[in-house]
Amino acid sequence: MKNADINYADLPRELLGFFPTPLIELTKLSQKLDGPKIFMKRDDNTGLALGGNKTRKLEYIIGDALAQGADTIITAGAAQSNHCRQTAAAAASLGLECHLVLGGQEPNHANGNLLLDKIFGCHIHWAGSNRKGEDIPKIVEQLKKEGKKPYIVPYGGSNERGALAFVEAFRELESQRQSMNISLTHIIFASSSGGTHAGLMLGNKIFNTAYQIVGINIDKGETDKVPFDQYIVALANSTATLIGAEYDFSASDLILNSDYVGEGYGVIGTLENEAIAMTAQTEGILVDPVYTGRAMGGLIDMIRSGKIKKTDSVLFWHTGGAPALFAYADNLEVTQQN
Ligand SMILES: *Cc1c(COP(=O)(O)O)cnc(C)c1O
Repeated sequence: MKNADINYADLPRELLGFFPTPLIELTKLSQKLDGPKIFMKRDDNTGLALGGNKTRKLEYIIGDALAQGADTIITAGAAQSNHCRQTAAAAASLGLECHLVLGGQEPNHANGNLLLDKIFGCHIHWAGSNRKGEDIPKIVEQLKKEGKKPYIVPYGGSNERGALAFVEAFRELESQRQSMNISLTHIIFASSSGGTHAGLMLGNKIFNTAYQIVGINIDKGETDKVPFDQYIVALANSTATLIGAEYDFSASDLILNSDYVGEGYGVIGTLENEAIAMTAQTEGILVDPVYTGRAMGGLIDMIRSGKIKKTDSVLFWHTGGAPALFAYADNLEVTQQN
């Protein structure tokens, strides 16, 4: 691989967030678990409309939309999609019309991310069981008939440009890590549409760091057309091609841990409840019920079960999501962690 050939500085990028996000150490959580050093990359603080990992991806994706002359943005997600909320905010800030195709039926009361989508003034299309954007093509046709120039932001912002944002994020991390003079063995994060995972895998190669890049799988993926593990590997490869990196990832390069999917997407169990309470009560930091609570629960379990050792040094990549806490209030069981 020729590092010198890697170039993405020429790809359009629209600045939407505040970077770098902080890199902090969670000493009290580590003590509580009698575990390894734990660091946290605070992408819950990306600065766009309550933050999250989609802000990074949208900088490159919306950059492309503007370069193509789009005036309307359309994307899809769950009713409590953090991706849709950040897309709605980005569109509002740039004067673009925004359409969201959300799974399920319209609830009686908008709360959490959905409330914010409405505040950002976007058009919401309820899609029932088509929760991954199956309805987008027909809405795009309609928008074109109305004379608009729609641009489709992929589900979860997970295409090559979205994944590329996490190569850039990896560069940001490495620069912070070196100036803080710390070492890492693992990066742990919630993996759901694959862009974060593909980008971090690629960054790990480009920067020659050899960390264990451990995605905690969030969704059982029962409706996926392409199995999720294959999707991530293919996206890592096509992202490498986009930026001129000569890598050929195969299934054996991927670490996708599916031990914690529980009852499926968005179903909160003991794992998530404990992780939410423990992170809040030891560190004063919020993780969310759907993604980061599950991933943090996975990290806690891997430390307790010895899969991650006391001598390791772990980075938890906080990908955001806390606005969903309010929408899931009735499903949460908050316990006192003494
Ligand atoms: C979208 C999202 C993820 C997953 O990132 P992908 O790149 O889609 O795999 C994790 N955490 C939160 C809070 C998210 O909104």
